[in-house]
Amino acid sequence: MGIKIGIDLGTTFSAVAVYDEESGRPVMVKNQEGEWLTPSVIQFADDEIIIGSEAKDSYENGENGCVSVFKRRMGDPSPYCVAGGKNYSAQDLSAILLRYLKESTEKITGQRVDEAVVTVPAYFYQQERAATLNAAKTAGLNVRQIINEPSAAAMTYALSHWRKNAKIMVYDLGGGTFDVTILQMSDMPVMRSLKTTGNHMLGGKDWDDLLIRLICDKIFSETGTDLRSVPAAYKAVERQAETLKKSLTQLYSTSVTVMLPEQGRYKITVTVDEFNEYTRPLLERTGSLCRNLLGELNMSWDDLTDILLVGGSTRMKQVPAYLEEISGHTPISHVNPDEAVAMGAAIQVNLPVPDYKEVSLRTVQDTAEVRQSAAEEETELSSPLSLRYTDIVAHAMGIIAVNDEGTYYINKQLSVVSYQL
Ligand code: ADP
Ligand code: MG
Repeated sequence: MGIKIGIDLGTTFSAVAVYDEESGRPVMVKNQEGEWLTPSVIQFADDEIIIGSEAKDSYENGENGCVSVFKRRMGDPSPYCVAGGKNYSAQDLSAILLRYLKESTEKITGQRVDEAVVTVPAYFYQQERAATLNAAKTAGLNVRQIINEPSAAAMTYALSHWRKNAKIMVYDLGGGTFDVTILQMSDMPVMRSLKTTGNHMLGGKDWDDLLIRLICDKIFSETGTDLRSVPAAYKAVERQAETLKKSLTQLYSTSVTVMLPEQGRYKITVTVDEFNEYTRPLLERTGSLCRNLLGELNMSWDDLTDILLVGGSTRMKQVPAYLEEISGHTPISHVNPDEAVAMGAAIQVNLPVPDYKEVSLRTVQDTAEVRQSAAEEETELSSPLSLRYTDIVAHAMGIIAVNDEGTYYINKQLSVVSYQL
């Protein structure tokens, strides 16, 4: 018998977890390079395809044939890149990455991967979900389910922080996407998402881009040179932007040296205050999505029990500081933002398959009553594999009927509905 795995297919990093029967907890699995996280970067080299850290290093060193951030174009069938005369869509590239994750896990564990749950941003549309599923099939994976990333992270959190009636806002800021979900832990072991929203074009990459702009603006005001007109220097800054951004999480300032036509080697320093000021509008975009979500549920910040931080970009200190400023809650980071999603998927793939006798649809209004109850004391979830999650769809649904002549009959949209995981 093989194993069942949870896969976090991220914009910047991907990860795999399995369920450990002995401890009753999900655990991460390293890739064949011995790393917990696999950069979602592919390099088309002369006679081979390189995946992960080596491809990321090549990208940062300015080598040719490297592709990254393709998840942002998931569901778009047009070519994302051309390599060796062949077109690759975001789905094709994701299939290559997923196959690597599958084969790597098989090598490390010595077991065959039988089944997988793959995660996607909650805000993904059907087309993007279908593309993810197709990519997984191409990669030779038998996918039990596609689940939402914040829901997966919340499952991991709930294992050790069960709190009846707690209303948790999951704030998930990754590399390319932002999702925010409000969920409630109801009677153990049932959790339900109340509502979700997001923006799949808002993530750490946008912070990188604004850091590049900040560097360009500073160089221009100090030297009068527009870095964009010096392609080699601009590309060098572009490649280092993420590393520079991460160093600003640790340090007050960071520097980069560029070659300018007139000044030669020129060192530019950026402080965290300057970076925070430039990127404040991005934070505010996340904040207004959070406020809208609360508004749609008729809730206020005070109605929330906690705000849970998920996603690598929540490591930037500006994120918890901003959330505290607007909400009055000190956000909690009780899960490892890099691992929680894959671990939640590993729980999900090991849960018993539900016996669907009927499908029930609930609207947001149906949850109004349960939202009134006060949160109780925190406990540990007695049995992880009894967990049940009622998830929500981010986008409205409708029903299409087609007659023999191909005429479409479309009903009026259903309001937001939920489904049981
Ligand atoms: P995804 O799931 O979209 O791949 P992740 O949740 O793995 O995203 O987060 C990746 C993002 O987090 C990247 O934009 C990365 O630069 C950012 N990140 C990771 N660690 C840090 C850090 N220490 N400081 C700032 N940003 C970070
Ligand atoms: Mg992620």
